[in-house]
Amino acid sequence: MPGFDFVIVGAGTAGCVLAARLSQDVNTQVLLIEAGGSKMLPAQASPPAWPTLLQTPANWGDVTVEQSATGTSVRLPRGRGLGGSSAINGMVFARGHRLGYDRWPGQG
Ligand SMILES: Cc1cc2nc3c(=O)[nH]c(=O)nc-3n(C[C@H](O)[C@H](O)[C@H](O)COP(=O)(O)OP(=O)(O)OC[C@H]3O[C@@H](n4cnc5c(N)ncnc54)[C@H](O)[C@@H]3O)c2cc1C
Repeated sequence: MPGFDFVIVGAGTAGCVLAARLSQDVNTQVLLIEAGGSKMLPAQASPPAWPTLLQTPANWGDVTVEQSATGTSVRLPRGRGLGGSSAINGMVFARGHRLGYDRWPGQG
């Protein structure tokens, strides 16, 4: 049974980046554990198709508690499988403007 220097739970966006960076050191043994599978569905290759993935095993299928404003629960999508939520997302990229972050230090 080999030993590992790092165990990462969840091969989603953050987990895959962490595993890739840590394993750049050939002397470091990294174990990446993922609850979902590694097989991609055809819709996962098409960003506009992401809503269709919410009914598949690539999504955990969570819903919120009942919301007091509406009296209903709503879907809470989260990716399940290699890539995590980045494997079911719309691949929308919006670069932040620095003014959007300038207040953060003053807010602690
Ligand atoms: C439907 C949807 C659309 C989105 N659209 C966009 C977009 O267009 N642009 C954008 O920038 N962002 C988008 N996002 C947000 C972005 O995808 C997420 O913020 C990001 O992927 C979260 O990364 P993460 O590493 O925190 O979690 P995730 O990528 O969700 O990774 C968590 C991983 O952990 C696994 N896991 C959980 N529990 C366990 C366990 N007990 N054992 C093993 N594995 C476990 C999960 O299966 C999953 O693979 C979207 C998100 C969703 C859900």
